[in-house]
Amino acid sequence: MTHYSAFALVRNALGGNRHWDQAWRSPAPKPHYDAVIVGGGGHGLATAYYLAKNHGLTNVAVLEKGWIGGGNTGRNTTIVRSDYYYPQSAAFFDHSVSLYEGLGRALNFNIMFSQRGMLTVAHSRGEIDFQRRLVNAMALNGVDVELVGGGEARRMCPILHTDPDSRHPILGGMVQRRAGTVRHDAVVWGFARAADRMGVDIIQNCAVTGIDRDPATGAVTGVRTAQGRIATGRLGVAVAGHSTMLADMAGFRLPLRSYALQAFVSEPLKPVLDIVVSSAALGVYVSQSDKGGLVLGGNADPYASYAQRGNVPTMEAVAAGLVALIPSFGRVKLLRQWAGIVDYAHDSSPVIGLSPVPGLFLNCGWGGGGFKAIPAGGETFAHTIATAEPHPLIRAFALDRFRDMALVDEAAAAGIEH
Ligand SMILES: Cc1cc2nc3c(=O)[nH]c(=O)nc-3n(C[C@H](O)[C@H](O)[C@H](O)COP(=O)(O)OP(=O)(O)OC[C@H]3O[C@@H](n4cnc5c(N)ncnc54)[C@H](O)[C@@H]3O)c2cc1C
Repeated sequence: MTHYSAFALVRNALGGNRHWDQAWRSPAPKPHYDAVIVGGGGHGLATAYYLAKNHGLTNVAVLEKGWIGGGNTGRNTTIVRSDYYYPQSAAFFDHSVSLYEGLGRALNFNIMFSQRGMLTVAHSRGEIDFQRRLVNAMALNGVDVELVGGGEARRMCPILHTDPDSRHPILGGMVQRRAGTVRHDAVVWGFARAADRMGVDIIQNCAVTGIDRDPATGAVTGVRTAQGRIATGRLGVAVAGHSTMLADMAGFRLPLRSYALQAFVSEPLKPVLDIVVSSAALGVYVSQSDKGGLVLGGNADPYASYAQRGNVPTMEAVAAGLVALIPSFGRVKLLRQWAGIVDYAHDSSPVIGLSPVPGLFLNCGWGGGGFKAIPAGGETFAHTIATAEPHPLIRAFALDRFRDMALVDEAAAAGIEH
């Protein structure tokens, strides 16, 4: 397979771009795999990649009901950061950002990681006090986040409004300079190509419709799919908003709810915004893509749903928040809107690890913030599937925490999730 490089680009350009290899195969499913991953999003594909790379497990299939990256991984607003409050979250997400920093080279795929920084503005004394507590806790956890005053916030983002009498004056904020954006499709394609290269079968248009279990032991024996039955003793489920449906097929319930989360892109503008800006009070965050469009998001729609559409009042709230934050965007036209279905636990932390069914492993509950978690999620989930023991970085995110009341309550610490 071609090694992607400047040299390969030039050579193929001179050849009329007719000789590029297919990036990954489209094999027919085999009757048996050592491990099957349901869900061809970032987490499923990263898991397959690390199973092959770190554990030598290559007789692995990723089953995707549509096309890879067609779920939340191809629908998100691409923000990668690690400014989490609890030590368990900080350790996990900071490791994920570190993996992202070397991922382009590891996958031989340009994932376009732009560490442009993220500024979360504060509009009141109360918010400044809250951010001070967050930043101190993050510093104790070794996460590099700083507080800045209003002047410095405006220097970092000169187009922020400057009205001190506004309902939402900008008094300061917290900044993570290592944060930024990553091209989401590239993460999917990079993991898919690298996993395929090591022998993983990526099977698209292959919805899982049932999960078979041994009547005596209850252990997983295989899955029923749109392309026939596939036997396996190790099943990893990474289907985001559809996790409760897969759990239902296996005969147990998950403490998760699925909601639509929307994203919006504007018409392209000349470069005006070279940092990610977020405001919890205004319920909006925004960055500018390489193509010039503003990419914005906000809070999830306020009711549970599997409908991948999103409602108009949430769209209006996000647009109003943007204009309150940066009034000069008031005449910018939105070009596109879409939604993904995200699954939340009530502490807003993921559920990753073992399940009540032997041989079935869970990777879900990422809510609106699991894109940044993909490399660490894949690495730790692969470890868990390969060894049947939860990786130390994810022990706190076990399903058992709801039984043991050991929540990692990021919901209390987070303002707006992205
Ligand atoms: C609008 C929006 C903005 C977001 N912004 C950010 C952000 O800025 N930063 C961030 O960190 N996170 C963000 N997120 C969250 C992030 O996108 C997700 O947490 C992450 O992509 C989840 O990855 P995944 O691989 O688990 O799920 P997905 O990418 O959704 O993949 C799951 C796959 O499973 C497949 N599937 C479902 N059921 C079946 C079945 N029965 N059989 C086979 N396949 C099945 C689906 O088709 C899908 O492709 C955002 C999400 C949305 C929707």
